[in-house]
Amino acid sequence: MFHDFVLAARLQAELQTIYDRFTPINLLAKFQAVLTQPKRLRFMGLLMASLLLAIAPALLQPALVSAQQIAISPPNPELGDTISVVINMPPNQATNTNPYVLFKQKQYPAFAIAPNRWRALLPTTPLDAPGLKQVQVVMPSGSQAYNVNLQNRSYPTQSIWLSPSKSSIEGTDHEFDRVDAFKKIVSPQKFWQGAFIRPSQGSVSTVFGVRRYYNGEFANDYYHRGVDYAAGTGSPVFAPAAGYVRLVGTVGQGFQLHGNTVGIDHGQGVLSIFIHLSRINVKEGDFVQPGQVIGAVGSTGISTGPHLHWGLYVNNEAVDPVPWRYDGIE
Ligand SMILES: [Zn+2]
Repeated sequence: MFHDFVLAARLQAELQTIYDRFTPINLLAKFQAVLTQPKRLRFMGLLMASLLLAIAPALLQPALVSAQQIAISPPNPELGDTISVVINMPPNQATNTNPYVLFKQKQYPAFAIAPNRWRALLPTTPLDAPGLKQVQVVMPSGSQAYNVNLQNRSYPTQSIWLSPSKSSIEGTDHEFDRVDAFKKIVSPQKFWQGAFIRPSQGSVSTVFGVRRYYNGEFANDYYHRGVDYAAGTGSPVFAPAAGYVRLVGTVGQGFQLHGNTVGIDHGQGVLSIFIHLSRINVKEGDFVQPGQVIGAVGSTGISTGPHLHWGLYVNNEAVDPVPWRYDGIE
């Protein structure tokens, strides 16, 4: 089905080329060129031009329809990738109604990223079933459905053995309520720009998406919802991109599991959370710049040693930060 998508995109591009080539101005120029030619050639030329004129509406028709271009990337998403759906709407269709995207039975908002251009970000996770997924783009003029072939990706597994005392710490309602509320934030503005930067100078100790066995039992709903960096207590934690600090939680307030926590809203449903911090340098409402020190690495909450856990959330689901770190998603 992905081939269909490629074919459709190619066809669309070809139609666009044909459309560009046979705009009325070009046709007029062709006519003028024909009129200056010898009679016999002129006849042939006129015949050709009339034929072109006759078929032009047919060529123009699909091109105008496909001017509502949808670009889905990456072309071969894998479990954990963020899928970007860019919607180009002609100015005559601009309304106050935002387009949106239906994916995995959920509705994802699209936000304006340029004049006549909108974009929705669709999260995928290691818990998704690979295979064909429908991406339905809903615009004021109607909806269009596309198929995306979500590729499987195998994630490493870890076995964790917890002592009864550790596994009995379940966190507090206070911390879960506040973290859940934070993850639901979707601001229409976009605060990040370009690729995200590394939030710690420590080396990666646990990659995104690792699955776990707890005390010998596979945890079906678990995947490592972030990247861990091993770094000494007190080493700086940097904001990976600009945004508003929308969550500051401390052990003292009941953040038993997460430990000292900072959450940044990068806008348009993209959020970062940093947990187990030893120190917090920001307060809620602060606007931080990429590279700004927001706190320090620690081992607060449920943690086996000093490290930074950075979770990147897109519309309430933890996604692989790697594509955001290297290629960037604009
Ligand atoms: Zn972690």
